[in-house]
Amino acid sequence: MEKTISKQKYSTNELLPVGIYLHIPFCTTKCGYCDFNAYANLDYLVPDYTSSLIKEIKLWKKRLSNHTVKSIFFGGGTPSLTSITDLNHIIATIFETFNVSSDVEFTLEANPTELTEEHLHKIRELGINRLSMGVQSMNPKELQLLERSHSPEQVINVINAARKAGFDNLNLDLIYGLISQNLLPWKETVDEILEYHPEHLSCYALTIEPGTPLYYRVEKGVLPEPNPDIAAEQYEWTRKRLDDAEYIQYEISNWAKKNYQCIHNLIYWRNKDYLGIGAGAHSYFNGKRFANIDAPNRYIELVNTSYTEWENKKHIVMKQITSNETPDLATTQSDTAILGLRLIEGINFDDYKKRFNVDISQLYAEAISKHLKTGLLEKTETSLRLSSKGLLLANELFVDLLPDNESDLLNKLGD
Ligand code: SF4
Repeated sequence: MEKTISKQKYSTNELLPVGIYLHIPFCTTKCGYCDFNAYANLDYLVPDYTSSLIKEIKLWKKRLSNHTVKSIFFGGGTPSLTSITDLNHIIATIFETFNVSSDVEFTLEANPTELTEEHLHKIRELGINRLSMGVQSMNPKELQLLERSHSPEQVINVINAARKAGFDNLNLDLIYGLISQNLLPWKETVDEILEYHPEHLSCYALTIEPGTPLYYRVEKGVLPEPNPDIAAEQYEWTRKRLDDAEYIQYEISNWAKKNYQCIHNLIYWRNKDYLGIGAGAHSYFNGKRFANIDAPNRYIELVNTSYTEWENKKHIVMKQITSNETPDLATTQSDTAILGLRLIEGINFDDYKKRFNVDISQLYAEAISKHLKTGLLEKTETSLRLSSKGLLLANELFVDLLPDNESDLLNKLGD
Protein backbone atom coordinates (compact mmCIF):
# COMPACT_ATOMS: atom_id res chain seq x y z
CA MET A 1 0.00 0.00 0.00
CA GLU A 2 1.41 3.39 -0.92
CA LYS A 3 0.77 6.45 1.15
CA THR A 4 1.38 10.11 0.50
CA ILE A 5 1.83 12.40 3.48
CA SER A 6 -0.03 15.64 2.98
CA LYS A 7 1.96 18.83 2.93
CA GLN A 8 2.11 20.88 6.07
CA LYS A 9 0.95 24.46 6.18
CA TYR A 10 1.74 26.81 9.00
CA SER A 11 0.25 30.16 9.80
CA THR A 12 3.33 31.34 11.68
CA ASN A 13 7.05 31.17 11.06
CA GLU A 14 7.67 29.54 14.43
CA LEU A 15 9.61 26.32 14.34
CA LEU A 16 7.70 23.41 15.82
CA PRO A 17 9.44 20.91 18.10
CA VAL A 18 9.85 17.35 16.87
CA GLY A 19 11.72 14.23 17.97
CA ILE A 20 13.45 11.94 15.48
CA TYR A 21 13.66 8.19 16.01
CA LEU A 22 15.99 6.11 13.82
CA HIS A 23 15.58 2.36 13.87
CA ILE A 24 18.57 0.05 13.47
CA PRO A 25 17.07 -3.46 13.26
CA PHE A 26 20.24 -5.56 13.56
CA CYS A 27 21.35 -7.62 16.57
CA THR A 28 24.13 -10.16 17.01
CA THR A 29 21.67 -12.70 18.47
CA LYS A 30 17.93 -12.56 19.14
CA CYS A 31 17.06 -12.56 22.84
CA GLY A 32 14.43 -15.12 23.88
CA TYR A 33 11.88 -12.60 25.18
CA CYS A 34 12.23 -10.00 22.42
CA ASP A 35 9.42 -9.18 20.00
CA PHE A 36 10.98 -5.97 18.70
CA ASN A 37 11.55 -5.47 15.01
CA ALA A 38 15.11 -6.77 15.32
CA TYR A 39 16.98 -9.49 13.44
CA ALA A 40 20.13 -11.55 13.90
CA ASN A 41 22.28 -12.63 10.94
CA LEU A 42 21.28 -9.81 8.59
CA ASP A 43 24.66 -8.07 8.72
CA TYR A 44 24.98 -8.33 4.96
CA LEU A 45 22.16 -5.76 4.66
CA VAL A 46 23.91 -3.09 6.76
CA PRO A 47 25.56 -1.07 3.92
CA ASP A 48 22.33 -0.89 1.88
CA TYR A 49 20.29 -0.18 5.00
CA THR A 50 22.54 2.73 5.98
CA SER A 51 22.24 4.15 2.49
CA SER A 52 18.41 3.88 2.63
CA LEU A 53 18.24 5.52 6.06
CA ILE A 54 20.18 8.44 4.63
CA LYS A 55 17.81 8.60 1.66
CA GLU A 56 14.76 8.51 3.92
CA ILE A 57 16.17 11.37 6.00
CA LYS A 58 16.57 13.42 2.83
CA LEU A 59 13.03 12.59 1.69
CA TRP A 60 11.70 14.26 4.86
CA LYS A 61 13.67 17.48 4.41
CA LYS A 62 10.86 19.63 3.05
CA ARG A 63 8.21 18.36 5.47
CA LEU A 64 10.42 19.15 8.44
CA SER A 65 11.52 22.57 7.26
CA ASN A 66 9.23 24.25 9.82
CA HIS A 67 10.43 22.07 12.69
CA THR A 68 13.30 22.09 15.12
CA VAL A 69 14.63 18.72 16.21
CA LYS A 70 14.71 18.54 20.02
CA SER A 71 15.74 14.92 20.35
CA ILE A 72 17.37 12.26 18.21
CA PHE A 73 17.13 8.64 19.30
CA PHE A 74 18.94 5.74 17.66
CA GLY A 75 16.98 2.69 18.82
CA GLY A 76 16.84 -0.93 17.82
CA GLY A 77 17.95 -3.57 17.51
CA THR A 78 21.49 -2.71 18.51
CA PRO A 79 22.49 0.70 17.14
CA SER A 80 25.87 0.46 18.86
CA LEU A 81 26.76 -2.23 16.27
CA THR A 82 26.70 0.45 13.55
CA SER A 83 30.20 1.35 12.43
CA ILE A 84 31.55 4.80 13.28
CA THR A 85 31.80 5.56 9.56
CA ASP A 86 28.11 4.73 9.01
CA LEU A 87 27.00 6.60 12.14
CA ASN A 88 29.04 9.59 11.05
CA HIS A 89 27.41 9.55 7.63
CA ILE A 90 23.86 9.25 9.06
CA ILE A 91 24.43 11.96 11.68
CA ALA A 92 26.02 14.35 9.18
CA THR A 93 22.95 13.92 6.96
CA ILE A 94 20.60 14.65 9.86
CA PHE A 95 22.44 17.89 10.65
CA GLU A 96 22.63 18.93 7.00
CA THR A 97 18.94 18.17 6.40
CA PHE A 98 17.02 19.29 9.49
CA ASN A 99 17.09 22.25 11.88
CA VAL A 100 18.65 20.61 14.92
CA SER A 101 18.32 22.42 18.21
CA SER A 102 21.66 23.40 19.78
CA ASP A 103 20.67 21.60 23.00
CA VAL A 104 19.40 18.44 21.27
CA GLU A 105 19.22 15.30 23.39
CA PHE A 106 21.02 12.68 21.32
CA THR A 107 20.63 9.07 22.48
CA LEU A 108 22.13 5.86 21.21
CA GLU A 109 20.91 2.48 22.46
CA ALA A 110 23.70 0.08 23.20
CA ASN A 111 24.33 -3.45 24.37
CA PRO A 112 27.16 -4.10 26.78
CA THR A 113 28.85 -6.70 24.60
CA GLU A 114 30.88 -4.99 21.93
CA LEU A 115 31.60 -1.56 23.34
CA THR A 116 35.22 -0.60 23.93
CA GLU A 117 36.37 2.67 25.44
CA GLU A 118 37.87 3.71 22.09
CA HIS A 119 34.58 3.08 20.29
CA LEU A 120 32.66 4.99 22.96
CA HIS A 121 35.05 7.95 22.62
CA LYS A 122 34.33 8.06 18.89
CA ILE A 123 30.56 7.82 19.49
CA ARG A 124 30.77 10.70 21.96
CA GLU A 125 32.79 12.75 19.47
CA LEU A 126 29.97 12.38 16.95
CA GLY A 127 27.77 14.44 19.27
CA ILE A 128 25.84 11.59 20.90
CA ASN A 129 25.32 12.81 24.46
CA ARG A 130 23.17 10.08 26.01
CA LEU A 131 23.82 6.36 26.12
CA SER A 132 20.99 3.95 26.87
CA MET A 133 22.14 0.46 27.72
CA GLY A 134 20.12 -2.76 27.90
CA VAL A 135 21.43 -4.29 31.14
CA GLN A 136 18.23 -6.13 32.22
CA SER A 137 19.84 -7.98 35.15
CA MET A 138 23.12 -8.31 37.02
CA ASN A 139 22.45 -11.96 37.76
CA PRO A 140 24.19 -14.40 35.34
CA LYS A 141 21.39 -16.98 35.56
CA GLU A 142 18.73 -14.39 34.78
CA LEU A 143 20.76 -13.11 31.82
CA GLN A 144 20.91 -16.70 30.60
CA LEU A 145 17.15 -17.08 31.00
CA LEU A 146 16.64 -13.96 28.89
CA GLU A 147 19.22 -15.25 26.38
CA ARG A 148 21.20 -12.06 26.70
CA SER A 149 24.69 -12.35 25.31
CA HIS A 150 26.48 -10.21 27.94
CA SER A 151 27.74 -10.83 31.47
CA PRO A 152 27.43 -8.58 34.56
CA GLU A 153 31.20 -7.91 34.31
CA GLN A 154 30.75 -6.57 30.78
CA VAL A 155 28.05 -4.20 32.05
CA ILE A 156 30.43 -2.77 34.64
CA ASN A 157 33.27 -2.49 32.12
CA VAL A 158 31.09 -0.61 29.65
CA ILE A 159 29.68 1.74 32.30
CA ASN A 160 33.24 2.60 33.36
CA ALA A 161 34.36 2.98 29.76
CA ALA A 162 31.38 5.22 28.98
CA ARG A 163 32.23 7.51 31.89
CA LYS A 164 35.85 7.73 30.72
CA ALA A 165 34.62 8.53 27.21
CA GLY A 166 32.73 11.53 28.63
CA PHE A 167 29.14 10.23 28.83
CA ASP A 168 27.47 12.06 31.70
CA ASN A 169 23.93 10.99 30.81
CA LEU A 170 23.53 7.24 31.08
CA ASN A 171 20.31 5.26 31.07
CA LEU A 172 20.23 1.62 32.12
CA ASP A 173 17.27 -0.64 31.30
CA LEU A 174 16.38 -3.30 33.86
CA ILE A 175 13.73 -6.02 33.86
CA TYR A 176 11.95 -7.27 36.96
CA GLY A 177 9.23 -9.87 37.40
CA LEU A 178 11.47 -12.52 35.86
CA ILE A 179 10.36 -16.12 35.97
CA SER A 180 11.21 -17.71 39.33
CA GLN A 181 12.66 -14.42 40.56
CA ASN A 182 11.85 -13.40 44.09
CA LEU A 183 12.60 -10.05 45.67
CA LEU A 184 16.22 -10.80 46.60
CA PRO A 185 17.93 -11.14 43.19
CA TRP A 186 16.05 -8.06 41.97
CA LYS A 187 17.22 -6.10 45.01
CA GLU A 188 20.77 -7.24 44.33
CA THR A 189 20.57 -6.08 40.70
CA VAL A 190 19.23 -2.64 41.63
CA ASP A 191 21.65 -2.19 44.53
CA GLU A 192 24.63 -3.11 42.37
CA ILE A 193 23.54 -0.83 39.53
CA LEU A 194 23.06 2.10 41.90
CA GLU A 195 26.75 1.90 42.83
CA TYR A 196 27.45 3.26 39.33
CA HIS A 197 25.10 6.24 39.68
CA PRO A 198 23.33 6.14 36.31
CA GLU A 199 21.46 9.38 35.60
CA HIS A 200 18.39 7.50 34.39
CA LEU A 201 16.81 4.08 35.03
CA SER A 202 14.02 2.33 33.13
CA CYS A 203 12.57 -0.63 35.03
CA TYR A 204 10.02 -2.73 33.15
CA ALA A 205 8.18 -5.87 34.21
CA LEU A 206 8.85 -8.87 32.00
CA THR A 207 6.02 -9.48 29.58
CA ILE A 208 5.78 -12.78 27.77
CA GLU A 209 5.18 -11.73 24.19
CA PRO A 210 3.38 -14.19 21.90
CA GLY A 211 5.62 -15.67 19.25
CA THR A 212 8.85 -15.36 21.23
CA PRO A 213 10.89 -18.43 22.27
CA LEU A 214 10.17 -17.55 25.91
CA TYR A 215 6.43 -17.61 25.19
CA TYR A 216 6.64 -21.16 23.80
CA ARG A 217 8.74 -22.33 26.75
CA VAL A 218 6.04 -21.02 29.11
CA GLU A 219 3.26 -22.45 26.89
CA LYS A 220 4.83 -25.90 26.95
CA GLY A 221 5.23 -25.74 30.72
CA VAL A 222 9.03 -25.82 30.51
CA LEU A 223 9.02 -22.53 32.45
CA PRO A 224 6.39 -21.18 34.84
CA GLU A 225 4.51 -17.95 34.13
CA PRO A 226 5.83 -14.82 35.86
CA ASN A 227 4.07 -14.18 39.15
CA PRO A 228 2.27 -10.77 39.06
CA ASP A 229 2.17 -10.52 42.87
CA ILE A 230 5.94 -10.82 43.09
CA ALA A 231 6.31 -8.28 40.27
CA ALA A 232 4.05 -5.86 42.19
CA GLU A 233 6.11 -6.35 45.34
CA GLN A 234 9.31 -5.70 43.37
CA TYR A 235 7.81 -2.58 41.83
CA GLU A 236 6.80 -1.16 45.21
CA TRP A 237 10.24 -1.91 46.62
CA THR A 238 11.88 -0.24 43.59
CA ARG A 239 9.87 2.94 44.03
CA LYS A 240 11.00 3.25 47.63
CA ARG A 241 14.61 2.25 46.95
CA LEU A 242 15.03 4.72 44.10
CA ASP A 243 13.32 7.47 46.03
CA ASP A 244 15.81 6.93 48.87
CA ALA A 245 18.62 7.12 46.31
CA GLU A 246 17.22 10.51 45.18
CA TYR A 247 15.89 9.46 41.82
CA ILE A 248 12.71 11.16 40.70
CA GLN A 249 10.07 8.83 39.33
CA TYR A 250 8.57 10.75 36.43
CA GLU A 251 6.74 7.96 34.58
CA ILE A 252 5.28 4.59 35.55
CA SER A 253 8.51 2.77 34.67
CA ASN A 254 11.10 5.56 34.53
CA TRP A 255 13.28 7.34 37.07
CA ALA A 256 15.87 10.07 36.65
CA LYS A 257 18.20 12.27 38.60
CA LYS A 258 17.06 15.89 38.62
CA ASN A 259 17.02 17.37 35.09
CA TYR A 260 17.82 14.04 33.43
CA GLN A 261 14.32 13.01 32.33
CA CYS A 262 14.39 11.61 28.81
CA ILE A 263 13.29 14.42 26.49
CA HIS A 264 12.63 11.99 23.65
CA ASN A 265 10.28 9.76 25.63
CA LEU A 266 8.52 12.80 27.09
CA ILE A 267 7.56 13.67 23.51
CA TYR A 268 5.77 10.29 23.24
CA TRP A 269 4.03 10.59 26.60
CA ARG A 270 2.90 14.14 25.87
CA ASN A 271 1.54 12.91 22.53
CA LYS A 272 3.63 15.42 20.58
CA ASP A 273 5.19 15.09 17.13
CA TYR A 274 7.90 12.57 16.40
CA LEU A 275 9.13 11.11 13.16
CA GLY A 276 10.31 7.50 12.91
CA ILE A 277 12.87 6.69 10.23
CA GLY A 278 13.95 3.14 9.36
CA ALA A 279 12.34 -0.29 9.08
CA GLY A 280 9.19 -0.61 11.19
CA ALA A 281 9.61 2.89 12.67
CA HIS A 282 6.39 4.54 13.86
CA SER A 283 5.53 8.23 13.64
CA TYR A 284 3.00 10.66 15.00
CA PHE A 285 3.40 13.71 12.87
CA ASN A 286 1.16 16.50 11.72
CA GLY A 287 -1.94 14.77 13.13
CA LYS A 288 -1.24 11.42 11.48
CA ARG A 289 0.01 8.11 12.79
CA PHE A 290 1.99 6.04 10.33
CA ALA A 291 4.56 3.28 10.24
CA ASN A 292 7.20 2.00 7.85
CA ILE A 293 7.31 -1.56 6.61
CA ASP A 294 8.99 -3.92 9.13
CA ALA A 295 11.17 -6.09 6.91
CA PRO A 296 14.58 -4.41 6.41
CA ASN A 297 15.07 -5.78 2.87
CA ARG A 298 11.65 -4.48 1.72
CA TYR A 299 12.30 -1.18 3.49
CA ILE A 300 15.52 -0.77 1.52
CA GLU A 301 13.75 -1.49 -1.79
CA LEU A 302 10.82 0.83 -1.10
CA VAL A 303 12.91 3.76 0.11
CA ASN A 304 15.20 3.39 -2.88
CA THR A 305 12.22 3.47 -5.23
CA SER A 306 10.74 6.54 -3.47
CA TYR A 307 14.09 8.29 -3.67
CA THR A 308 14.66 7.53 -7.34
CA GLU A 309 11.15 8.74 -8.21
CA TRP A 310 11.75 11.92 -6.25
CA GLU A 311 15.02 12.55 -8.08
CA ASN A 312 13.37 11.96 -11.46
CA LYS A 313 9.95 13.49 -10.96
CA LYS A 314 10.47 15.78 -7.95
CA HIS A 315 7.41 14.18 -6.42
CA ILE A 316 7.59 12.36 -3.09
CA VAL A 317 5.53 9.25 -2.45
CA MET A 318 6.73 7.56 0.73
CA LYS A 319 6.36 3.96 -0.45
CA GLN A 320 8.00 2.57 2.70
CA ILE A 321 4.99 3.74 4.76
CA THR A 322 2.64 0.77 4.94
CA SER A 323 0.16 1.93 7.55
CA ASN A 324 -1.26 5.40 7.87
CA GLU A 325 -4.23 6.77 9.74
CA THR A 326 -5.51 10.13 10.88
CA PRO A 327 -6.89 9.66 14.38
CA ASP A 328 -10.18 11.46 14.93
CA LEU A 329 -10.58 14.01 17.72
CA ALA A 330 -11.94 11.49 20.25
CA THR A 331 -8.98 9.18 19.65
CA THR A 332 -6.45 12.01 19.97
CA GLN A 333 -8.06 13.19 23.20
CA SER A 334 -8.03 9.64 24.54
CA ASP A 335 -4.40 9.00 23.46
CA THR A 336 -3.32 12.26 25.10
CA ALA A 337 -5.14 11.39 28.33
CA ILE A 338 -3.80 7.82 28.53
CA LEU A 339 -0.23 8.71 27.60
CA GLY A 340 -0.24 11.79 29.85
CA LEU A 341 -1.45 9.81 32.85
CA ARG A 342 1.59 7.57 32.53
CA LEU A 343 3.56 10.58 33.75
CA ILE A 344 3.73 11.03 37.50
CA GLU A 345 2.89 14.71 37.11
CA GLY A 346 -0.31 13.59 35.37
CA ILE A 347 -2.36 15.88 33.18
CA ASN A 348 -2.47 19.57 33.80
CA PHE A 349 -6.11 20.75 33.53
CA ASP A 350 -5.18 24.03 31.81
CA ASP A 351 -2.84 22.39 29.30
CA TYR A 352 -5.47 19.84 28.29
CA LYS A 353 -8.11 22.53 27.93
CA LYS A 354 -5.77 24.69 25.88
CA ARG A 355 -5.03 21.80 23.53
CA PHE A 356 -8.60 20.53 23.04
CA ASN A 357 -10.81 23.38 24.19
CA VAL A 358 -12.55 21.00 26.56
CA ASP A 359 -12.33 20.27 30.26
CA ILE A 360 -10.87 16.80 30.85
CA SER A 361 -13.00 16.47 34.01
CA GLN A 362 -16.13 16.87 31.88
CA LEU A 363 -14.92 14.85 28.92
CA TYR A 364 -14.24 11.77 31.04
CA ALA A 365 -16.57 12.61 33.95
CA GLU A 366 -17.81 9.03 34.41
CA ALA A 367 -14.41 7.34 34.26
CA ILE A 368 -12.78 9.95 36.48
CA SER A 369 -15.53 9.73 39.09
CA LYS A 370 -15.31 5.90 39.02
CA HIS A 371 -11.55 5.85 39.49
CA LEU A 372 -11.43 8.56 42.11
CA LYS A 373 -13.62 6.07 44.02
CA THR A 374 -11.52 2.98 43.13
CA GLY A 375 -8.50 4.97 44.30
CA LEU A 376 -6.56 4.65 41.01
CA LEU A 377 -6.79 8.38 40.32
CA GLU A 378 -6.23 11.47 42.38
CA LYS A 379 -6.92 15.12 41.71
CA THR A 380 -4.82 18.08 42.74
CA GLU A 381 -5.79 21.72 42.26
CA THR A 382 -4.05 21.79 38.90
CA SER A 383 -3.90 18.23 37.65
CA LEU A 384 -5.26 14.74 37.40
CA ARG A 385 -2.81 11.93 38.10
CA LEU A 386 -2.42 8.28 39.00
CA SER A 387 -2.31 7.38 42.67
CA SER A 388 0.29 4.90 44.00
CA LYS A 389 -2.32 2.18 43.53
CA GLY A 390 -3.03 3.51 40.03
CA LEU A 391 0.63 3.13 39.06
CA LEU A 392 0.24 -0.61 39.58
CA LEU A 393 -3.19 -0.98 37.97
CA ALA A 394 -3.12 1.75 35.34
CA ASN A 395 -4.56 -0.46 32.57
CA GLU A 396 -7.83 -0.83 34.52
CA LEU A 397 -8.24 2.92 34.25
CA PHE A 398 -6.91 3.33 30.71
CA VAL A 399 -9.53 1.01 29.25
CA ASP A 400 -12.21 3.39 30.57
CA LEU A 401 -10.59 6.31 28.75
CA LEU A 402 -10.72 4.69 25.33
CA PRO A 403 -13.13 6.21 22.82
CA ASP A 404 -16.53 4.43 22.84
CA ASN A 405 -15.92 2.48 19.65
CA GLU A 406 -12.63 1.07 20.92
CA SER A 407 -13.91 0.13 24.38
CA ASP A 408 -16.95 -1.54 22.75
CA LEU A 409 -14.56 -3.55 20.63
CA LEU A 410 -12.48 -4.49 23.66
CA ASN A 411 -15.62 -5.56 25.53
CA LYS A 412 -16.70 -7.72 22.60
CA LEU A 413 -13.25 -9.26 22.34
CA GLY A 414 -13.41 -9.99 26.07
CA ASP A 415 -16.75 -11.85 25.77
S1 SF4 B 1 19.41 -6.89 21.99
FE1 SF4 B 1 17.43 -5.85 22.35
S2 SF4 B 1 16.51 -5.63 20.32
FE2 SF4 B 1 18.19 -7.12 20.12
S3 SF4 B 1 17.19 -9.10 20.36
FE3 SF4 B 1 17.91 -8.49 22.41
S4 SF4 B 1 16.19 -7.40 23.34
FE4 SF4 B 1 15.76 -7.55 21.14
